[in-house]
Amino acid sequence: MKITFLGTGCAIPTLEKNNTSFLIQSEENILVDCPPCVYEKIIEYLGEDSLPDKIVITHSHVDHITGLPSLLEIMRLKKWQKRLDIYISGGAFDIVLEMLKLHKVINREECFPIKLHSIPMKKDQLVFSTEEFKVFSNPVIHSVPNIALKFVEEDAKACYSSDTERCEDLDTFAYGCDVLIHEAAYLLKNKKKLPGHSSVDDSAICSLESGVKKLYIVHVTETVIKDMDAFSKEVIDSGYQGEYSVPEDGETIEI
Ligand SMILES: [Zn+2]
Ligand SMILES: [Zn+2]
Repeated sequence: MKITFLGTGCAIPTLEKNNTSFLIQSEENILVDCPPCVYEKIIEYLGEDSLPDKIVITHSHVDHITGLPSLLEIMRLKKWQKRLDIYISGGAFDIVLEMLKLHKVINREECFPIKLHSIPMKKDQLVFSTEEFKVFSNPVIHSVPNIALKFVEEDAKACYSSDTERCEDLDTFAYGCDVLIHEAAYLLKNKKKLPGHSSVDDSAICSLESGVKKLYIVHVTETVIKDMDAFSKEVIDSGYQGEYSVPEDGETIEI
């Protein structure tokens, strides 16, 4: 399983860090979340052949969905032919559908087939499976209904927290994964909790409890990465002893 980070930043993007999303290359290309400029990022980091066969949307916040109408329109204009399946968490389905209708990018003639699926907001829910690849979802704790995702191949498992505050259910859901991609929006030392989001400490505790080998911290704010000494101290003080990093936009990991 190959995962390329198309963006690793929070809701306020910078020139270095776009809003968080990534593309998985397995039997098919699977895009996870769809912030603005996602088409440009796929072209820049992976090339035209890597446009998605499937898209999974975790929740309805603008930094996770507003690139979708534009991506669909670009694919239509580029004469994309293959069917595209879009899996949307149940809590976001109506909002995303309304957005796509407003932009008139679905149900139109001379367009490739687009099929929308609503993901039930249940624990350990199978989202879809192909011959060698399965995706599961699990609700997490955010300011709107949201899901974590787990990607499973025979020899590789990765979990993505999406946006969440400390969520013990996620420890269970991620248990046994090789890799955890977890958000962190603040440092404990700043003592300014952001409801619905995690501290670096929260992401490290989830890694410790779920026994993952490597933690990738994404959806980071500038405050979090400005003080890497405090960042590392929080990870070490949590007791988590695995590897960890803040990936760069465009970075590819192989699991
Ligand atoms: Zn977000
Ligand atoms: Zn959010």
